[in-house]
Amino acid sequence: MGRFTEARFLLSAAAAGQFPPDRGCEVAFAGRSNAGKSSAINAILARRSLARTGKTPGQTRLLNFFELEAGRRIVDLPGYGYARVPERERLQWGPLLEALRERRSLRGLFLIVDARRGLREPDLALIEWANPAARGVHVLLTKTDKLNRGEAAEVLRATHKRLEGRITAQLFSAQNGMGLAEAEQTLLRWLGEDSAGE
Ligand code: GDP
Repeated sequence: MGRFTEARFLLSAAAAGQFPPDRGCEVAFAGRSNAGKSSAINAILARRSLARTGKTPGQTRLLNFFELEAGRRIVDLPGYGYARVPERERLQWGPLLEALRERRSLRGLFLIVDARRGLREPDLALIEWANPAARGVHVLLTKTDKLNRGEAAEVLRATHKRLEGRITAQLFSAQNGMGLAEAEQTLLRWLGEDSAGE
């Protein structure tokens, strides 16, 4: 771990015009509010507080870009599934996502799902958004420290079955480090596909 010792916050975008230049490689992280996305990002990057955890669900409607090294970024998408998002912000979110999806540099999506809940409708919608035929979608079934082995195996099986061959998925826990190496490998693979800064 700790490969990205230079990781730093780059910018928050409320509109597509604020995105960083579409060069190099980037990987998006998305998930339902409170699923454990910030904790997963911090664990994978071996950073305690690069992405803020435990904030008010649904509070942030911005896309946060972090630069891991030159030409290699992650994009933290706003948590979804939180009902009390003002209409005005909901309307902003669609075009922002559309613009993100169009980016050549977007290599893959990490979808963070609370293993106790499993995949739900908004998660499936996001998978379709990412277009898994065109780029990788990797589901992190997190908080597995709250499940016993049998329950964890079952949720992984159900996730694979639901999206047969279209996505990859794994068990994960930011708390006890389960699956951390596998998640990191996926991130590195996606970020390493082309030379940076191209
Ligand atoms: P986000 O809203 O998706 O970014 O979720 P956070 O990372 O802020 O986590 C939401 C809550 O779940 C916090 O109270 C975290 O401490 C907790 N949490 C996150 N990951 C794990 C995990 O792997 N195991 C356990 N037990 N709790 C977790």
